[in-house]
Amino acid sequence: MKTDIKNYSMKSLGLWLESEGIRAYRAIQIFNWIYRKQADDFASMSDLSKELRQVLEAHFFNDRLRLETTAISQDGSVKYLFRLADGHTIESVLMPEKDHSTLCISSQVGCAQGCAFCLTGAGGFVRNLTLGEILSQVRDIQWRMDREAPRLSNIVMMGMGEPLANYAAVVQAIEVLTNARCGLGFSTRKVTLSTVGLAPRILQLGQDVMVNLAVSLNAADDEIRNRLMPINRTYPLDVLMSACRDYALPKRRRITFEYILMEGVNDAVSDALRLVKLLHGIRAKVNLIPYNEHEKSAFRRPSLPAIERFQSVLMDKGMTAIIRNSKGQDIGAACGQLRADRDLAG
Ligand code: SAH
Ligand code: SF4
Repeated sequence: MKTDIKNYSMKSLGLWLESEGIRAYRAIQIFNWIYRKQADDFASMSDLSKELRQVLEAHFFNDRLRLETTAISQDGSVKYLFRLADGHTIESVLMPEKDHSTLCISSQVGCAQGCAFCLTGAGGFVRNLTLGEILSQVRDIQWRMDREAPRLSNIVMMGMGEPLANYAAVVQAIEVLTNARCGLGFSTRKVTLSTVGLAPRILQLGQDVMVNLAVSLNAADDEIRNRLMPINRTYPLDVLMSACRDYALPKRRRITFEYILMEGVNDAVSDALRLVKLLHGIRAKVNLIPYNEHEKSAFRRPSLPAIERFQSVLMDKGMTAIIRNSKGQDIGAACGQLRADRDLAG
C-alpha cells in the first residue's frame, strides 16, 4: 500500500532512499518540490531522474487535505475545516493582520487533557495527527491563500490537541517548518508551541528543537489549577515552574504564559499577585485571554474593568502583560472553541 510521503522526515526519507539504492541527498530535492514548490505530482519533479520519479510514484502519494468548509469571520480570520482520510475532521485558523498572517494549527483530533473550560477537551481524544497531516495544514493553506492576503509568517500550535502529547510528530513538524533550505522556511522566532504543561516534555523539547514556548497556566495556585486542568495533579505548579526555569531558552527570548481570565475563578487581585510571585525570576511575558464563552461551559468572561485591573497589577510589578482578545469568535474559531464535527467520524 502507498504511504503519504509527507509522513517522512528528511532523515527517514534519506534512509528509505538508501535502502532502495538511491543517494540520501535526493531527499533534499524531493522536500524542495513538496514544501517550497508545492508540487502535487512526482512526475513534475523535473530535476529527478525518470526512474526515481517512478520509484516514488510506486511507493508514495502526496495528496492534499480535503477541505470541507471555510468560514470567514467579520474580523477577517478564516476557519478551515479539513476532513482526513479516515473521516475525522480538524480545524485550522488563519488570522490576517496588517503586514503578516498567523496560522493556528491542530496537533490531534480531539484532546485527552480534559481541561474544564475547553470545548476541544469536552469532546475527548480521538487520535494523534500524523506528521503529514500537521504539515499539510500549513502547506495547503499557503497554497490556497488569497494572493492579496498578508504573507504567512507565523505559525502557532494552539489549535485542537496537546502538541506535546504527540511529541515525535510535532518535533518533526517543527523541523520541516523551520528548515530554510528545503522545508517551509519559517523563522524559529515565528513558530510557537503551546502546551498544557507536560513538564518532562518541556525539558526535552528545549533539547530537541528551537521554537517559542507558550505554557497554558490559567491559575497561579494548585488548588484552582487542579480544578481547571487535570494535568496539574500529575505535574503541579512547582514541577511545571522548575521545568520552565530549566528550559533551554535561547538568549533574548521569553516564555509566554497564557492566562485565561474567568470571572470569580482566577481574576481577583490576589490571583494576580500570586501570579507575579510564581513567575518571579523567569523571563516571561503573560498573555491575558478573556474567556470565550460557549454553550458547554458555565465559565464567564470578567468585565472589562476587572480584566484591566488584573493587567495593571502585573504591569505595576514590572511584568509584560498583554490582553489578547481571540479572533474569529463569531465563527467558532476562537481559542477553546475548536472541535471536530464528528458527524461522519462516529
Ligand atoms: N493544548 C494546548 C494547545 C491548544 S489549546 C494548550 O492547552 O496550551 C489553545 C489555548 O486555548 C490554550 O491556551 C487554552 O488555555 C485556551 N483556551 C481553551 N479554551 C478557551 C476558552 N474557552 N477561552 C479562551 N481560551 C481558551
Ligand atoms: Fe486540550 Fe489545550 Fe483544550 Fe486543555 S486547553 S483540553 S490541553 S486543547
